[in-house]
Parts: sequence; structure tokens; C-alpha cells
Amino acid sequence: MRIDIITVVPELLESPLSHSIVGRAVKKGLVEIHIHNLRKYGKGPRLQVDDYSYGGDAGMVIMLEPVFNMIQELKAERDYDEIIYMSPDGEVLNQGIANELSLKENIILLCGHYKGIDHRIREHLITREISCGDYVLSGGELPAAILADSIIRLIPGALSDETSALSDSFQDGLLSPPVYTRPAEFNGWTVPEVLLSGNPKLIREWQDEQAIERTKRLRPHLLKE
Ligand code: SAH
Repeated sequence: MRIDIITVVPELLESPLSHSIVGRAVKKGLVEIHIHNLRKYGKGPRLQVDDYSYGGDAGMVIMLEPVFNMIQELKAERDYDEIIYMSPDGEVLNQGIANELSLKENIILLCGHYKGIDHRIREHLITREISCGDYVLSGGELPAAILADSIIRLIPGALSDETSALSDSFQDGLLSPPVYTRPAEFNGWTVPEVLLSGNPKLIREWQDEQAIERTKRLRPHLLKE
């Protein structure tokens, strides 16, 4: 899989995408991540990529031409399954979307900044818009990193124990049961007895009950879906 990310602040993406599970997936060659600085196609001596908004509202808007040129350059090299704009009013990211996108070959993530991007980009170049939640951030870089992470950890081989992605929350429509590690007792705080029983059937039953109880209490809408 290949993910191309277009941004005006590449520095914001470097660290989140070069360590831990995502960093290892890149090193193993399971995914290629290419970060492109939109200023490459900036205008004039200052490599300008933003301008005042028509209508006089406060805040700068990312211009159409640099984005158009950047996307053209990428599309000339390969076909893209999706060209995604990270946007607070897009579909709210969930595990289903991450699963779906993890099966794609090539995707572009476009990060907005300032007041947003010229709307014609959204009308003519973008195939999908994804939000990381109903709140507004300063730029699309952190949402793009969140989306990329949620996708990459699902690529077979990205997690050392492949079954561990399957038992994560949301993967089977349920929240994950609680997890514990050593010591079995600290400060009088104990681990549920059943987990120490060594009986896989009882442990499985307990985990299933916990998953259902937690889902009912914390995300009841998942059970209805
Ligand atoms: N004026 C816009 C917000 C601009 S925030 C509005 O009211 O909708 C600047 C950029 O940050 C956006 O272009 C988008 O790319 C990104 N962004 C902000 N919040 C986001 C969110 N919740 N999900 C995804 N991207 C977001």
C-alpha cells in the first residue's frame, strides 16, 4: 500500500508516522508513506500557497492551483483509489472506514490549514472527505496521522500478533474487555480471579460478557447497529 500526504506543515507528520507500529510497518515495506510539501507548487518568491478568502471573511484559504498541480503530479505516476480531504464536516472516521481503506492500493490524504481549502478542490478533485471527530483542529495533519495509523495497523504483518487487531475494540462491533498484567496483586488491587484460572473456556466467556456489558454501557449504539 502507498499513502501520499499533502501538507503545508510536513514537520507535523514526521514523528507520528516514523515510530512504533507504523514506523515498523514502513521499515518492513508493508506501506510506503510519502509526505509532500505543498509549497513545492507555491506561487512567487515566497512560495505562497494561501490567499485571502473571497467575501472578506477572516482567515486565509489554501489556493486551488498548488493543490491541483500536486495532485496532477501524483496522478501522472499512478492511479489512486481515493483522494481524501481531511475535514471536520466529512464522514466521521470509524473502524469500518479504516478496514475498508486498509484494502486499497494507493490513497492521497490532503491536509487543509488556516480557514480551509478553496471549495473547488473539494468539488472537482476530492473523492472522499473524512473527519476525526466533531471538533476543529488547526490543520489536517493530526487527523491524517490518525487515519493513516488506523489503516496501517490493519495491514497483515503490521502487528506482531495478527490476531491482536481482530480482538481490538470495534473490530467485531464490540468494545474490548479489560486487560491486566503482572503483578496479580498490588496495593490490595487484584486481577479478576478467572484470568488466573488457566481455563481458556472460562476466560473466553468472561471476556465476552465483559465486552457486551462495556458496549451496552459505553457505546450502546454499536449493539443496535
Ligand atoms: N473553517 C473550517 C475549519 C478549518 S480548520 C470549518 O469550519 O470547517 C483547518 C483544517 O484543519 C481543515 O482544512 C481540515 O483539513 C483540518 N481539520 C480541522 N479539524 C478537523 C477534523 N475534525 N477532522 C479532520 N480535519 C480537520
